[in-house]
Amino acid sequence: MPEQPDRNRGLSAAELMQKRAAEGAARKEALQVVERWNAERSPLWSPTIRCAVVAGTPWLDVYCPGCRTSRAIDIRTFDLHPLASVGSLVLGFRCSWCPGSAPMPVLTGLHAAPPAARCSKIMPMEFL
Ligand SMILES: [Zn+2]
Repeated sequence: MPEQPDRNRGLSAAELMQKRAAEGAARKEALQVVERWNAERSPLWSPTIRCAVVAGTPWLDVYCPGCRTSRAIDIRTFDLHPLASVGSLVLGFRCSWCPGSAPMPVLTGLHAAPPAARCSKIMPMEFL
C-alpha cells in the first residue's frame, strides 16, 4: 500500500511553541494599544474590534450623558467586520431611557470583564 501524504499532520512541538509565542506577542501588542486608548480616550483614533478581542478586552464601557448611567457591552456579540474601529460603534448606540434627542453616548474604555459594580445597573443601551 502506497504511503499517504501527510496532509493532516499536526504541528510539531517547535511549531506549536512558535505559534504560541506569536499569539502571546500579538496579545501583548494589542493590549498596549487598548491600554493607551483607555488612558487617552482620544477622539482621533480607537482600536479595531479585532485588537480589542485579541487583547482580551472585549467589554466596552458606554456612558449616557443624558441619564448618567453606564453599561458594559460585549463587542464580540456584534456581527461587524473585525477591522471596524471600536470608536465607530458609538454611532450605533442609543440609550432607550433617554427620549428623542438623547445625547450621543460616550465610549469610556475597553476591559477584560464587566465590572461587578456596573453589572447591577441595567441600562437599556441598544445597538442599531
Ligand atoms: Zn440615557
